[in-house]
Amino acid sequence: MKVAVFDTHKYDRTALEVANEKYGHDLHFIESRLTERTAKLAEGFPALCSFVNDRLNEDVLRQLHQGGVRVVALRSAGFNHVHLESAERLGIAITRVPEYSPYAVAEHAVALILTLNRKIHRSFNRVREFNFALDGLVGFDLFGKTVGVVGTGRIGAVFARIMRGFGCRVLAYDQKPDRTLADTSGVEYVPMNVLLSQSDIVSLHVPLTPETRHILDAKAFACMKHSVMIINTSRGALIETKSLIEALKSGVIGSAGLDVYEEEEGVFFEDHSELGLQDDVLARLLTFPNVLVTSHQAFLTREALSNIADTTLQSLEDFERGRPLVNAVRRSIQVD
Ligand code: NAD
Repeated sequence: MKVAVFDTHKYDRTALEVANEKYGHDLHFIESRLTERTAKLAEGFPALCSFVNDRLNEDVLRQLHQGGVRVVALRSAGFNHVHLESAERLGIAITRVPEYSPYAVAEHAVALILTLNRKIHRSFNRVREFNFALDGLVGFDLFGKTVGVVGTGRIGAVFARIMRGFGCRVLAYDQKPDRTLADTSGVEYVPMNVLLSQSDIVSLHVPLTPETRHILDAKAFACMKHSVMIINTSRGALIETKSLIEALKSGVIGSAGLDVYEEEEGVFFEDHSELGLQDDVLARLLTFPNVLVTSHQAFLTREALSNIADTTLQSLEDFERGRPLVNAVRRSIQVD
């Protein structure tokens, strides 16, 4: 099938080309993100493949439909950026990759914790300037600390198990508690307010939905332990960024590891080193020595890229052959 692959970088292209040896789709790689302005590039393509910061709002979907697009395969698990009602009304099928490597994301969350706690980012820079002093680099033992996991689906459960391996007490909050996780890993399910008030580290692993938007806001920060560490590898808008900045300034938040950011669209995945930043909130966040921002890279492992490519191309083949779409996104699975 002829597929317009938007927002492609070298790593996507390589993984998709390797996986496509099995499927033989006619892949056309487009570097631009999908927006109202670039949607016309998909004219004449029955299939489109997109990533997390592509825009799939009502206007874009209408344009895609007019241009002949009948299926959109998301190379992501999250689908909060898709206007599902419009897609359903227009008869555009949407597929996603519900699971490609929960380990990739969970392990990145752990990388953020270890880097922030042991201040590896700071010591790396110091040593390069031959500054071998240790002042300001004191961390804490993870052993015996309390880690709060918000959302114990695929990624949160892997993350919880890893933190249990460090000898942490793990508190969890999920609307659908995973009893097996609790029974086999000693994870304790508690209400959200208990998790917030007792955790030394809070890591977010819920999807972005109307209920979870700004799940960490000024009110939530006010009930947290002084100098708690916040980790977000899920979606930026789970955190109200301006309140996070205030809490960092007051010291309520001791450190923050963010792989995602509320306004990351158009910034993350791109090189802005020549232009500087237009986003003053992100610029302020980057001034804190105890904030580590990565550019939505938690998924970026060889295994994850290969699984994403394979599942995406399989969904397109299923669509082409009229088979059931096992990874179809429907409004009824907004939260799963
Ligand atoms: P999942 O669907 O397996 O798990 C989500 C969990 O959140 C479920 O257990 C669900 O019950 C729980 N949940 C949903 N709404 C809730 C609410 N209102 N209150 C409490 N619990 C709620 O998802 P997953 O595969 O673990 O992925 C989690 C999120 O990680 C994705 O939605 C995506 O946004 C993000 N993600 C980020 C990256 C990255 O590269 N940074 C990569 C993949 C996924």
